[in-house]
Amino acid sequence: MIGPGKAIGVLGGGQLGRMFAQAAQSLGYRVHVYEPSGPSPAGEVAFRETRAPFDDLAALEVFARSVDVVTYEFENIPAGPLGTIEGIVPLHPAPGVLHVCQNRLREKSWLRHNGFAHAAFAEALDGDIVGAASRLGLPCVVKTADFGYDGKGQMRLATPADLEQAAAIFRGRRCVVEKWVEFEREISVICARTAQGETRAFPAAENIHSNHILDISIVPARIPAFVEAEARTLAARVAERLGVVGLLAVEMFLGAGGELVVNELAPRPHNSGHWSIDGAETSQFEQHVRAVCGLPLGPSGARGPTVMVNILGDAWTWRDGAVVGEPDWTAILGEPRAKLHLYGKPVPRPGRKMGHFTVRGADVEDSLALARELKAGL
Ligand code: AMP
Repeated sequence: MIGPGKAIGVLGGGQLGRMFAQAAQSLGYRVHVYEPSGPSPAGEVAFRETRAPFDDLAALEVFARSVDVVTYEFENIPAGPLGTIEGIVPLHPAPGVLHVCQNRLREKSWLRHNGFAHAAFAEALDGDIVGAASRLGLPCVVKTADFGYDGKGQMRLATPADLEQAAAIFRGRRCVVEKWVEFEREISVICARTAQGETRAFPAAENIHSNHILDISIVPARIPAFVEAEARTLAARVAERLGVVGLLAVEMFLGAGGELVVNELAPRPHNSGHWSIDGAETSQFEQHVRAVCGLPLGPSGARGPTVMVNILGDAWTWRDGAVVGEPDWTAILGEPRAKLHLYGKPVPRPGRKMGHFTVRGADVEDSLALARELKAGL
């Protein structure tokens, strides 16, 4: 066990690292952030921030020697640095987990190999989208194998003209083409797992996306109780099979017939778990701290219906590509059922996650209606 008072290293300095650091500090840990492009949202609240590239092995070694355990808050970390760190200090989740989850082709192949339901897919090498799509049939979606998030590097293909366009756009890139899933709802389950193999899943969140970016998460998800239980079991089975120590977020599609299909895995805190800061007995960030430090896991139940809304840079007032006004926070701040969380990012950009707010109302529909009203008023 790495007890309170020790130091935790975090690779990546974004908002996930920031909220992780805040939870770790509440438990008495010191947090050291490693972020190539600092100053960062996480670095700003951490005990220490190292600003160096991921291929600076000397800086990584100094970083690793200064902490008792290392974790990460984003997935696009090259394998080399992870090897350096692992040789010095425990690193959770293990690099092998990240290796699977940071590349869509490896992730899909892993799901297939381990018998977890997933969307039918085909590999498209060097832009051969037409070949891959003809094996699957339209509609489908093409995604770059590496460095994809929030719908970046994705395109939906519905017509032969889309195929031609995609072939040009993705030429020379390794891609995965997936059959389009006609889902009823999108949900996600975040599951914590300890080194001893104990797992604890949070309630499923129902997720609504806009332009491929998460917009709203709703807890409890508006799905039958038995499907919710199945989703939690599925997430725990995936975490176990992967051997995750820490958190694993499992995004799933729920089909009209009640079937669950795994869409994506993320071995870290997840945007769809932000509701848990205000709405769960233990937040996902505290649970991550507990899991990677070997503390007992906390209770993961919801304290009541909770809706989370992302606040993007789009909420600022823009004129000719420049920001001319900040959102008006007074309605959220004045609403006793709402909580505002801002990430301290100095420069808003369209699509950039600047913060979120949660609403905890009497029931899901009431919370959702209030959340939508507050969002519209920003
Ligand atoms: P991803 O980055 O893979 O999580 O995709 C972002 C969003 O695009 C998902 O949350 C879905 O809303 C949508 N999407 C991705 N893949 C598919 C698919 N195979 N079928 C239907 N919708 C998809």
